[in-house]
Amino acid sequence: MKKSDPDLDPDDWAELRALGHRMLDDAFDGLETLRERPVWQRLPPRLRAEFREKLPHQGQPAAEAYADYLRLVAPYATGNTHPRFMGWVHGGGTAPGMLAEMLAGALNANLGGRDHAPIEVERQVIAWAAEMLGLPAECSGLLVTGTSLANFIGVLVARCAALGAACRRSGLGAAPLTAYASTAAHACIPRALDMCGLGSEALRRIATGPAGRIDLAALEAAIARDRAAGNRPFLVIGTAGTVDIGAVDDLASLAALCRREGLWFHVDGAFGAMLALSEKHRPLLAGIEAADSVAFDFHKWAQVPYDAGCILVRDSAAHRAAFAQPAPYLQGETRGLAGGQPWPCDFGPDLSRGFRALKVWLTLKIFGAGRLGEVVERTIELAHLLAGRIDAEPALERMAPVALNIVCFRFVAAADPGVDLDALNAAIVADLQEGGIAAPSTTRIRGRLAIRAAIVNHRTRSADIEALVEAVLRIGKARAAAAA
Ligand SMILES: *Cc1c(COP(=O)(O)O)cnc(C)c1O
Repeated sequence: MKKSDPDLDPDDWAELRALGHRMLDDAFDGLETLRERPVWQRLPPRLRAEFREKLPHQGQPAAEAYADYLRLVAPYATGNTHPRFMGWVHGGGTAPGMLAEMLAGALNANLGGRDHAPIEVERQVIAWAAEMLGLPAECSGLLVTGTSLANFIGVLVARCAALGAACRRSGLGAAPLTAYASTAAHACIPRALDMCGLGSEALRRIATGPAGRIDLAALEAAIARDRAAGNRPFLVIGTAGTVDIGAVDDLASLAALCRREGLWFHVDGAFGAMLALSEKHRPLLAGIEAADSVAFDFHKWAQVPYDAGCILVRDSAAHRAAFAQPAPYLQGETRGLAGGQPWPCDFGPDLSRGFRALKVWLTLKIFGAGRLGEVVERTIELAHLLAGRIDAEPALERMAPVALNIVCFRFVAAADPGVDLDALNAAIVADLQEGGIAAPSTTRIRGRLAIRAAIVNHRTRSADIEALVEAVLRIGKARAAAAA
């Protein structure tokens, strides 16, 4: 775009403002009419090819670039805003969350440090999170990309607490640290052990009982075995809401065990920690308030737009000791903009940090913990509705107990006993997704492929559950008949 002033502000503010209003109207229209569109559609190859262009040296009018966005990007997103998106564990986002993203963009605040109100917004959000989970008000925390990074930070703080801050200079040497989590723990947990230099084999995977919760006796035995072998147990990671079936480990017993054994107790509550928003389901989390650190997401069950993960650490001094790094140009002061210590950059790996906190703050202010808790309750009810439909339908088999909001099942009514049910159900899921009908995902339960419906989206209703069941039966029967 040619322009008389050298800065990047528009030559014609009125023109860009009008375009901005149109963008906002289009975005609202998109949210209001979600149900009329496919859940997901694949980006066609001819459009995908347009993402292979060379770096533009000459700009183009904003309206033209926006037209490209409308044509190439908006129709082909993940689909997790849609009420029939049930894949993985994705939050649905909200209209106020969308507006908060826009406001944050206008401020362009950097929350690495310094003395400004956006950091107070983040501190408020961290204090609310601690209050929600029953952790002390003095605990420290950060908003990060997601629970993967939050878990990594938890592991790093635990490692530093076990070895002393000197390990940040001298490295790990041959420290034989060992950590423990159930076999149902998320894949980012072994990766956190890997990334922190201990290696993923330092994580002992403990068997789960029939309800998918960590087997406490097996855990104690593994710790004793490691001690006897000269290893140094330092960390137990409990899961609140396993990613496959939504099981919540017995956090109170894990907390007691960690206290007895002198181990750091970290909880991965990626989505399950949001049970705290519901009076009815909060008791499932009993013991989380005794954790040394908790990682969870606001972008899943709490419906804040991506991305918004959170780490809370009970002992803020231990948290800071794991990350603080003095640098002359980051010198804090008692006056002026360089005041406001302690700074968020001393509690995690990022220096520059965006204003994620605004969308969380506004979401909590606008909906209140109460309305978000109702969403948690309703999605759990819908999961039980789905489980009931499956149990009443001979062509379908439920494959796991419904602990929370995740239902694993599959189509089993193939007349030919030789039919590969894994392949058949994988094909059903792909058909549902490619047809834009619904987007469940798949998992494996005791070696068998399951259709996995995680009901997370606040827009999902009972009619959407019915539509999923009806489509699975229709596609399953057609495919089974064609294969016979
Ligand atoms: C989603 C999830 C994660 C990873 O969280 P991200 O926000 O995707 O990084 C970790 N643990 C569990 C149990 C999860 O469900």
